[in-house]
Amino acid sequence: MSPTSTSTSTPASSDVLVIGGGIIGLVTAWRSAQRGFTTALVDPEPGGGAAQVAAGMLAAVTELHYGEQTLLGLNLASARRYPDFAAELTELTGQDLGYRRCGTLAVALDADDRAHLRELHALQQQSGLESQWLSGRECRRLEPMLAPGVRGGLRVDGDHQIDPRRLAGALVAACERAGVVFHRTWAERLTVVRDRATGVVLADGTEVAAGQVVLAGGSLSGRLAGIPQDVLPPVRPVKGQVLRLTMPRRHGPFLSRTVRAVVRGSHVYLVPRASGELVVGATSEELGWDTTVTAGGVYELLRDAHELVPGITELPLTETRAGLRPGSPDNAPLLGPTGLEGLLLATGHYRNGVLLTPVTGDAMAHVLATGELPEEARPFTPKRFSPATALSEQPA
Ligand SMILES: Cc1cc2nc3c(=O)[nH]c(=O)nc-3n(C[C@H](O)[C@H](O)[C@H](O)COP(=O)(O)OP(=O)(O)OC[C@H]3O[C@@H](n4cnc5c(N)ncnc54)[C@H](O)[C@@H]3O)c2cc1C
Repeated sequence: MSPTSTSTSTPASSDVLVIGGGIIGLVTAWRSAQRGFTTALVDPEPGGGAAQVAAGMLAAVTELHYGEQTLLGLNLASARRYPDFAAELTELTGQDLGYRRCGTLAVALDADDRAHLRELHALQQQSGLESQWLSGRECRRLEPMLAPGVRGGLRVDGDHQIDPRRLAGALVAACERAGVVFHRTWAERLTVVRDRATGVVLADGTEVAAGQVVLAGGSLSGRLAGIPQDVLPPVRPVKGQVLRLTMPRRHGPFLSRTVRAVVRGSHVYLVPRASGELVVGATSEELGWDTTVTAGGVYELLRDAHELVPGITELPLTETRAGLRPGSPDNAPLLGPTGLEGLLLATGHYRNGVLLTPVTGDAMAHVLATGELPEEARPFTPKRFSPATALSEQPA
């Protein structure tokens, strides 16, 4: 079946309808079609969304935070899938995803940062993760462009990277090959008949019916009309501004791995791509759906990145952009059936959506086929936020 851009008045119908064509909606639609479900996807611009801005760090180990050990399990499960996942997509589409097993170096610039990094190292060790403590001198031996003031760091060879724009493009191509029908417009409203989701009404008034509807609308997931209040996903936008610079082509690499640090409480990272692009990110701002690039945001990123790698101020600044992470109350995704029959969620991936793409595709295909989430994804049921579950989990 060839991909279509529908704007017809004939009611369309499919087994599965995915709302949202960011990387999460696309991987869900692709895996659904591979399982033999007739699958449609609604998005005015499939392959757009946060992946157009994201850095693409696959950072299960360096992104570990206290209280997020459950999420760690899912992050690691997805990181393990990445080599095969990337190879499968490349083989299918002929597209190179910029997947690099280059590792990550998290460094400290002062005594406070070093104490913070030591704590992270201890947490990683308790969690059985591989990371190695390095002195400042050892860090600079690994990455000569680092500032002389670097006080120490953590070498994490298992945290890799991918180019999210290429990933999004390849997923669109994979969906097209698998016969996913594209409706290149907005879904205006969810249709609910006798307490069951039955499809959506598109912006032009067309009704599209489906056996199962997956809402993968990123930071907009809580805004679709027609969703009953008690199953509305508690997802909010968290703005991130990012810069793109170009590294010189010369004898040695400018940076050979992702370098990151916390500078005065703000996270800053530099992700060098094989293409010569250097991604510098990212701010974290709770400002609704605003995606303005601000002078202050660019200033802070350049100031902090310059403290880490002074040589960056010589590089051409080629792009500035802001995107929205789909944040959830516990920073973990919402996957699988909701309290409304026929409506499933694949959203709330926050700062790890690129990393979590492979495991999300597999979990959603599994739940669409069986009605049950696979074991590793069960903690991420949207029902953990439903009022009934929250009440029943309160201590007596
Ligand atoms: C600055 C920044 C840096 C990041 N860095 C990393 C990183 O290094 N590593 C990592 O793993 N993750 C990173 N992320 C997070 C990652 O990009 C996101 O978690 C992921 O892209 C979310 O994908 P999504 O498909 O759920 O949502 P989105 O990308 O937001 O896509 C949602 C799509 O749904 C569509 N949509 C919404 N509502 C409707 C509707 N009613 N009808 C039709 N279409 C609709 C939208 O048009 C959009 O295309 C970063 C994010 C940002 C912003």
